[in-house]
Amino acid sequence: MTNRLPLLAGNWKMHHDHLEAISVVQKLAWALRDAKISKESAQVAVLVPFTDIRSVQTLVQGDKLPLWYGAQDLSEHAEGAHTGDISGRFLQQLGCEFVVVGHSERRSDHHEDNALVGRKVRAALDHELTPILCVGESLTERENGEHVAFTLRQCEEALAEIDTPEELVIAYEPVWAIGTGKTATANDAHEMAQEIRGWLAQRYDSSVAESTRILYGGSVKPENVSEIMQSEHVDGALVGGASLDPDTFARLIAASVRL
Ligand code: PEP
Repeated sequence: MTNRLPLLAGNWKMHHDHLEAISVVQKLAWALRDAKISKESAQVAVLVPFTDIRSVQTLVQGDKLPLWYGAQDLSEHAEGAHTGDISGRFLQQLGCEFVVVGHSERRSDHHEDNALVGRKVRAALDHELTPILCVGESLTERENGEHVAFTLRQCEEALAEIDTPEELVIAYEPVWAIGTGKTATANDAHEMAQEIRGWLAQRYDSSVAESTRILYGGSVKPENVSEIMQSEHVDGALVGGASLDPDTFARLIAASVRL
């Protein structure tokens, strides 16, 4: 039995503009209330496009909703001549709790390597944001049986310069399962989460390994979440497609928490 609070984080990717965001977050809050999901049973977060953050902040803080929110990326820099980039300081000032770092879509669309991902983890921690560090293998590594070594190397390289992180979430997201409808088996998720926790204990110490939440991501749905979360090492899910509809996301959350 662990005392890590389950984290269910919805990654909206580039969906929902700032007006749609208000309606989705409001409906999510109502659905969670109806399902009797309290802050004590799970931490629920939405990771929204930058342009939605102010609207979500106003609603969550104004109505004291039991929800957290964050962004999907941040700059490695705190400020300066970096056209189009967003500083962790701006996110902190908007009340963000989380920021996704190293999502596979950013690694592929924007050629982000582990060194850059590591600098972004640093930037997040410098601004008191909890990084959700995404790691996970592609189909080739999985088929070659190299998925564990590949994923741990991503952790190693991204966290090489980070001494004892105050707050860290690691999301294991096999790339072949993201947005494809293919899900890793509960056993695959368990195996990798256990490997990552073992690696954290070696890289840091047992208290970092015990306190770091490890999520699974990749086509998680209301129908498969509870099986995936059976593992004592899987502390929640990073959810893309199934987080866009508030009722579906609330059903997924309700299925995941041990009420
Ligand atoms: C994700 O966006 O990180 C993700 C896991 O997406 P999906 O749930 O749609 O596979």
